[in-house]
Amino acid sequence: MSAMNEPDELGRFGNFGGRFVPEALMPACLELEDAFRSAWSDPDFTAQYRQLLSEFAGRPTPITHCERLSEELGVELYLKREDLAHTGSHKINNVMGQALLTRRMGKKRMIAETGAGQHGVASATAAAKLGLECTVFMGEVDIHRQELNVFRMELLGARVVPVTSGSRTLKDAVNEAMREWVSCVGDTHYCIGSVMGPHPFPWMVREFQSVIGTEASTQFADRGLLVPDYVVACVGGGSNAAGLFSGFANTSARLIGVEAAGGSAIGSGSPGVLHGMRSMLIQDDVGQIEEAHSISAGLDYPGIGPEHSHLAEIGRAQYFAASDDEVLDALQRLSRREGIIPALESAHALAWVFREAAVSIAPGSTVLVNLSGRGDKDVAQVREILRTQP
Ligand SMILES: *Cc1c(COP(=O)(O)O)cnc(C)c1O
Repeated sequence: MSAMNEPDELGRFGNFGGRFVPEALMPACLELEDAFRSAWSDPDFTAQYRQLLSEFAGRPTPITHCERLSEELGVELYLKREDLAHTGSHKINNVMGQALLTRRMGKKRMIAETGAGQHGVASATAAAKLGLECTVFMGEVDIHRQELNVFRMELLGARVVPVTSGSRTLKDAVNEAMREWVSCVGDTHYCIGSVMGPHPFPWMVREFQSVIGTEASTQFADRGLLVPDYVVACVGGGSNAAGLFSGFANTSARLIGVEAAGGSAIGSGSPGVLHGMRSMLIQDDVGQIEEAHSISAGLDYPGIGPEHSHLAEIGRAQYFAASDDEVLDALQRLSRREGIIPALESAHALAWVFREAAVSIAPGSTVLVNLSGRGDKDVAQVREILRTQP
């Protein structure tokens, strides 16, 4: 039995998940579940999906052995290179799957929410490739912070709708996208960007991201390597981690998720309901959701996918936090030692390895880190921080 199975018929992973949506959204969730179930067991659909991933998204992505860092750290460090996928991160795996599913359901339009803009750009990319209309909901605050990504989405033919409710950031953009989905469900699919939201999203998005773990475990075997001792990924909503973990859940590998210290739902959250799911959330005593804050906008989500809450509860995966300072160091260290500038998000996973290599990780261990994205999008911000640092 895998620790990462299908959720039960109510969409629950143990005590987490479910489908906490208004009645008006129930038919849409059920329709989507049926459509995904039928597509995922249809060899024509999966063949089309695989072909898009290889021909358009550049898969398989390689595994890179970090020779210099391995020597420094005393562990064998390998990276799964999602930074080399089209649009620069793992997000393309999910959006191509959901865009293909949108077409199969006979819908002509995809909507999406975005915080930092990365999922918006990926969604706009997938929509352009498959000839779908695309509308992206984005908090007004984020629109100002991420002007270049707004322009990218527009270049790709998407419409960006500013969200002015609440704190005008990601959490509010999700609410707005759900509202829009209720009113246009006949011709519109809501493309959620991580393993979150009501059933079937957490399961479906994990399945679309499982290509990361499947490839990585095959690549390890093909090189004659044993299963890694540690499999490590950063966690915002948790999609790149879920995708990588799923390839190793049935092995002896330790699964490690690394959250941002200022947004650590497992580390400092409590159970609650948000965006259609029951999961660990950062909230105050009366259940008001608190803002997540970290150096990387892509990890600023006050919750975590329900399956991660479950994996933490049953002890199959462990979750730790990395501070902004550790992350900045990790980004520079990988850049200098290995010639790869990682995304700030991915640098969280590296930061944990760098911190623990001399501490809890036994010398000689094999460590596989998911390099979820490239750092080009972050260099201006990093430059600004380093310039003003004492
Ligand atoms: C969006 C993003 C993440 C966080 O999302 P998950 O769903 O937790 O994977 C991590 N890394 C990069 C590069 C991202 O763009």
